[in-house]
Amino acid sequence: MLAGISSSLYILTGVAAILPTQKAATMQSESTTIQIPDFTDNPVSGLAITARGLCKTYDNEGVTHRALKSVDIDVPVGCIYGLLGPNGAGKSTFINIMAGTVVKTSGSVSIWGTDIDANPRQSRANIGIVPQELNIDAFFTPRETLDMMAGLFGVPRAERRTDDILKLVGLSKQADLYSRRLSGGMRRRLLVAKAMVHQPPILVLDEPTAGVDVALRQRLWDNIKALNNAGVTVVLTTHYLEEAEALCDQIAIINNGKVITAKSKAELLSSAGHKTLHLSLAKPPLSPLPNSLTELGATWQEGRLSITFNPEKSSAINVLNEVRLAGFEVEDISTAEPDLEDVFLQLTK
Ligand code: ADP
Repeated sequence: MLAGISSSLYILTGVAAILPTQKAATMQSESTTIQIPDFTDNPVSGLAITARGLCKTYDNEGVTHRALKSVDIDVPVGCIYGLLGPNGAGKSTFINIMAGTVVKTSGSVSIWGTDIDANPRQSRANIGIVPQELNIDAFFTPRETLDMMAGLFGVPRAERRTDDILKLVGLSKQADLYSRRLSGGMRRRLLVAKAMVHQPPILVLDEPTAGVDVALRQRLWDNIKALNNAGVTVVLTTHYLEEAEALCDQIAIINNGKVITAKSKAELLSSAGHKTLHLSLAKPPLSPLPNSLTELGATWQEGRLSITFNPEKSSAINVLNEVRLAGFEVEDISTAEPDLEDVFLQLTK
């Protein structure tokens, strides 16, 4: 299997190689001609995807379930956008509405400037969707798989970029192997390749690393970053906070069918509004802690004094002085910034 770094390089050079041809390309579908969108021809709004008041109610044998409750989402062109939320939050429903496999109940969605109701075919051509399940036919080679997919999208033979795309995902050497002989990581990359046969400017990945081991996860993250660096707007769903923190520059937290917050990652992290100071003391304090320390909100954990404070109201230096004034000698200091997990827990509790 190709190492993460080399496959990232493949992706970078590969995308660069296929992008310039985009402007001229068109796809013939049964009754209409669909323009393959141009990466450099951004929507006027600067938004790759917009959803307004999006609702979905599932109705199963008289039981109704509101999976999306008036969702508003703006995905800026060129970002890695994370839809973060626990299982059942409504992430897949949103993706499936964009893919055209689930019909929304109300609201609107626009993909690369095309409303999904006004022009469903064009809006589907503007996006590539990588599903969660490894839905690959074991008896086709990667090359055959991509050719078949391109055929389904109506990409004319002369305009197919099968070799470039295989190179893009680091599968050139495996192009003619039966897919059943591909490793798990290669199969995932073949899924990305399948979603790219019509060279969409937006790639949507539904739980791209669900159930994969740590080493493979890191390689897939490298691939996603490299695709984004090459100009592809990426939307991914995840319930791994760590994944959203490592990859995304914009994050929407979805819970129970509602967007709880949608901000840049930096804004989201700073909105947690607290820092923690961990202090090693020359002499451990008595138990229970003296009032002078509990008044500062201090707790004694794992042999350290931990004090959480709001940086808008105090500073690490102030906190440290207070501890010294209370008569304690500080030997070592470390600070902890909030991470996405803190923000997530705060927002979803
Ligand atoms: P997520 O992708 O965030 O895990 P989903 O979009 O799959 O969430 O599901 C959102 C909610 O809608 C869940 O409660 C789920 O059980 C429900 N749901 C999803 N698909 C269907 C369906 N076809 N019929 C009925 N309920 C569904």
